[in-house]
Order: sequence, then C-alpha cells, then structure tokens
Amino acid sequence: MDESIYKILVGLACFLFIVIRGPHVKESREAKISKIREGRRERLLVGLNYVSMMVLPLVYVFTTWLNPFTMYLPDAIRLSSAVLFLSGLVLFWWSHASLGSNWSNKLELREDHKLITSGPYRFIRHPMYLYFYIYVLSLGLLSSNILILVSGFMTWTLLYVVRVPDEEKMMIDEFGEQYKQYMKETGRIIPKIL
Ligand code: SAH
Repeated sequence: MDESIYKILVGLACFLFIVIRGPHVKESREAKISKIREGRRERLLVGLNYVSMMVLPLVYVFTTWLNPFTMYLPDAIRLSSAVLFLSGLVLFWWSHASLGSNWSNKLELREDHKLITSGPYRFIRHPMYLYFYIYVLSLGLLSSNILILVSGFMTWTLLYVVRVPDEEKMMIDEFGEQYKQYMKETGRIIPKIL
C-alpha cells in the first residue's frame, strides 16, 4: 500500500490526540492547585516523551529523514495497528471524561480534588498511561519505523516507572485508606493483575 496512506493515518493520530487533550490543558491551567510534586527529572522525561511521541512521528509524516529506520511489516499488521490506535483513543477520551477537572499533566492536586473510581478507573488506576503504551505501539507499527517504535516505548517506560510510584504515593498521602482500598481492587494498567 502507498506509504502516503500511512503518513496520513499517523498525522491524523497525532491530530486526534491534540483534539482530545487540548481543551483539558486549557482547563487545567485555570484550576487552583493545592499541591505540586514535579521534579526536574520528571520534566526532562516529559520533554523526551514529547520528542518521541509527537516530534518524531511528525518528522515521519512530513519528511523522508526517518527512512533508514524503516521495518518491513505486512500491510495487515500496519492497518490493524490503526484499529488498535482507535480503541486506545476511546480509552483516552473516556479517561479524560471521567477524571474531568482532576486531570493535570503534572503530579499535582486540585484544591477540591476528588478521587475518581468510575469509568475506566473502576478497573485500573492508570488508564491514560495504558493509552500511551497503545499510542507508542500503534504509531510505531503504523509508521513501520523502528526508531519511532523503540524510542517511544523506551521513553514512555522510563516516565512510567518514575511517575507511577510518585503519583500513587501522592494519592495515598491525600486520600489515605480510601486510596489503599482502591489499590486493592484495581490493577495499575491491567485489571487486578498489573
Ligand atoms: N494516572 C492516571 C491519571 C493521569 S493524569 C491515568 O493514567 O489515568 C495525572 C493526575 O491525575 C495526577 O496528578 C493526579 O492528581 C490525578 N489522578 C490520578 N489518578 C486519579 C484518580 N483516581 N482520581 C482523581 N485524580 C487522579
């Protein structure tokens, strides 16, 4: 299949991410913050993730510079990763809709922060972080580009292992027993297991 089809799909995937997240970024900038827990290490990792998840896919869309990293995958795999991406997008939208104004892209708590345990949060504590795994995997396969696949997976895993323990500690400090009980009933990204 013509490569330009895949370029359009990857460009569309980046665009849809921005369409869903954009309004929440605006809302979170206006919210009143009571606690913030973000260090330099985390900011650096967030920056690296922007490069691997947004800049590199867009370089693939608009240039041929990443051609040396092309993998030869069958069209069936590339196209099914578009379906994977779309199901991830539904999870992403559902997570944002459930977290509402409690969402922020940093580790912080709102003045009237509520613990959300509905929507996807009923089953797992980190549905958005699961979405980012789906995002890097599907964009890597869709573009059939080893650099996009490996750098996305590695930078996201680095941020995930640094952030999740800090985030859960912050939530335990704030919500105590309620969050500990919630942890017993849910998995991090796989219900009850992981
Ligand atoms: N880890 C979650 C949320 C990511 S956004 C996920 O993957 O879906 C990060 C912010 O969400 C954190 O700063 C925290 O304030 C907030 N948060 C995380 N889990 C929450 C929950 N269950 N209820 C309310 N806020 C939560």
